[in-house]
Amino acid sequence: MKTVCRAVPLSFQKVYLRQMSNGEDQGSDTEDEGGLRKIIHVDMDAFFASVEQRDDPELRGKPVAVGGSGGRGVVAAASYEARKFGVRSAMPSVTAKRLCPDLIFVRHRFDAYKEASATIREIFRYFTPHVEPLSLDEAYLDVTDDIHGIGSATRIAQLIRERIKEQTNLTASAGVSYNKFIAKLASDQNKPDGMCVIKPGEGAQFVASLPVRRFHGVGPKGAEKMAKLGIETGADLAAKDIEFLRANFGSMGDYLYRAARGIDLRPVRANRIRKSLGGERTYSEDISSGAALREAMDNIIDIVWERIERAEAKGRTITLKLKYNDFTSLTRAKSLTENVADKLEFARIGHELLEELLPLPMPIRLMGLTLSNLEGDSDKDERKPDTAQLSLL
Ligand SMILES: [Mg+2]
Repeated sequence: MKTVCRAVPLSFQKVYLRQMSNGEDQGSDTEDEGGLRKIIHVDMDAFFASVEQRDDPELRGKPVAVGGSGGRGVVAAASYEARKFGVRSAMPSVTAKRLCPDLIFVRHRFDAYKEASATIREIFRYFTPHVEPLSLDEAYLDVTDDIHGIGSATRIAQLIRERIKEQTNLTASAGVSYNKFIAKLASDQNKPDGMCVIKPGEGAQFVASLPVRRFHGVGPKGAEKMAKLGIETGADLAAKDIEFLRANFGSMGDYLYRAARGIDLRPVRANRIRKSLGGERTYSEDISSGAALREAMDNIIDIVWERIERAEAKGRTITLKLKYNDFTSLTRAKSLTENVADKLEFARIGHELLEELLPLPMPIRLMGLTLSNLEGDSDKDERKPDTAQLSLL
């Protein structure tokens, strides 16, 4: 049996909702199996690029990248027209331009994105206090307690998407399911402006058909490693036993074992506290010369600072991570007494940490920078750094 995902265009939704309220569709996801939740993952479609296209009619229907077009610029977001050419976020701008010569670069306008973000969060909070933002443009919502008596999580998700469209003139996609892992996969299923509902009992089958690179937390590097182990899809992953997964993926083994079975025990965490924020890059060719290392550092600084700014994070410890071509790695950190003031200071410390290690004993294959000791991180709970946040490229 094939899992059916409905892409519901907004224009049809009103009709659909009316039918549901007439009792023609009772929304069968009102039943709660033991321990299962009702989770919605909402994700704006090509968020930064869509805001730019909304605000500048000249950009509509055209391939647009938000980010710097210069030599070391990085694409922060790409419109769907640009994605058709293979342009992706976190891609170096020169690569993007090569793939899509007509690509239009626009500078980011974080104030505009933050304004839209505040609007959608307000919409979320009308429906539930249990909102866990993942970034400016996506969030998990736990709507198990249907506080307005709307009737089903599917219907709540449709109302949210309608309100987002009305109030921001932007489109969002939503995944509706019984846990976070499946809901996030589902929101991606019918993008853009789509929706997908995976009911209890359908999760394992849905996951089996998907490539593992789409799994939250796997990332391109994880997917590469899995491919070498013969794991391409959820079904391949489900065929591995837990000892194998623990041996190969350490602390992520248990998560992967459950994920492959459509199980995810993580609750939606409102007021989620981030421990660190960073990014790293694996290079297609090992790097050893000082000049190449410095250029790589500049590139990492651009990527990571963009993320820091987007998350409005403030912190005072910067950690440099290098992985040598023999796969040994080392980290060097520096803590300030105050939060890192700006990108200039972040860049200066990043370079200082690197210079102290030069010349390197052997070429590196990976470089990463992380900001930690974040403001608001006062509770020393058990949470580990969010590895998903670290797999940038
Ligand atoms: Mg998005």
